[in-house]
Amino acid sequence: MTPLPPNATIGIIGGGQLGRMSAMAAARLGYRTHILADSADSPAAQVASGVTLGSTEDADALARFAEQVDVVTFEFENLNAAGLDALAEKRPVYPPPAALRLTQDRVSEKSFINGSGGPTGSWIPVFSPQELAVAVQQIGLPGVLKTTRLGYDGRGQAILRTHSDVKEAFDRLSPAPFILEALVDFACEISVIVARGQDGQMVAFDAVENRHRNHILDVTLAPAQVGSAILATAHEIATDLASSLGIVGLLAVEMFVDRNGRVMVNELAPRPHNSGHWTIDACPISQFEMHIRAVAGLPLPPATRHSDAVMKNLVGPEELALWPEILRAPGLIPHLYGKGEALPGRKMGHVTRLFPKGSLPGPFGIEAALEVFR
Ligand code: AMP
Repeated sequence: MTPLPPNATIGIIGGGQLGRMSAMAAARLGYRTHILADSADSPAAQVASGVTLGSTEDADALARFAEQVDVVTFEFENLNAAGLDALAEKRPVYPPPAALRLTQDRVSEKSFINGSGGPTGSWIPVFSPQELAVAVQQIGLPGVLKTTRLGYDGRGQAILRTHSDVKEAFDRLSPAPFILEALVDFACEISVIVARGQDGQMVAFDAVENRHRNHILDVTLAPAQVGSAILATAHEIATDLASSLGIVGLLAVEMFVDRNGRVMVNELAPRPHNSGHWTIDACPISQFEMHIRAVAGLPLPPATRHSDAVMKNLVGPEELALWPEILRAPGLIPHLYGKGEALPGRKMGHVTRLFPKGSLPGPFGIEAALEVFR
């Protein structure tokens, strides 16, 4: 493992906020970044040293991008895996394209998780209305029907509560393939972000609790407000999966904790994750720096946390309107992504508030901690 020397260029596929914050971490370590995105004004391109306009669908753009970079990573998953394979013939690509391919499809992802000994709720692949009827009988209602590919922030899924929802959901989400999952009556949602180096070394950030609004991450509490046994189980599940998947870079593992304290994996993301934004302010080494270090072949120091944290996403025009107030408020650490228009549901930035380590939920109490964002 030869570390990437200072001033080398890391290529990042994708121009969003995850690429932007990765590029900012790379700059701190003395690397340049070059972005593959469809706009020179994308959030990542604004802070990088270069940009190639195009996508992983475009062989010509990929060839030009490869010429500009020493190593390649990506910041989103809905990209062309064959394009990534083509890039991997010219430059090292981390995480490996095979890991991306596996997580792009909910059926291959869940098969892999269960095959590696990871727990999930019940699930069944569904290709036709007949198969859906059988799957509903086997899993029971309520359930969640999801497209196997390209779903995010609740898109491409429908909750089936009664038998009359079944046909409507199938038609609305069509075309198949789908996956039917049992609807987990969760006590909370948590996630663990693991960094794994080229030599297999792994470090993991503390499990955090994620609260969603309109299917979009709203707030992350670090650490998760669950018992130590659940934290340890989540950590073990996540590191086992990162190792089985042969990740180099980051693996975010989203999990449910049910009312009996049972931990189940929901999904995997082989990239920096929204539920790790708090690490920029509450950890000496953030998720983004861990990602860059892994991709560059640098050592991975422990993923320690010096503070507890609450991270609040700023979503859409309504929450962006809080910006002047956020800038004035004592103790709020603001982050804005440089996006043009605040469309409804669009993640425009986030805010972190730190608390002395060990002080969540008190002395302030979590609800009081959240109050400052309202
Ligand atoms: P996903 O796109 O799979 O991450 O789902 C988005 C969100 O929908 C999750 O964070 C959960 O809040 C909810 N969700 C998805 N699948 C399930 C499930 N099987 N049971 C309960 N809630 C779910």
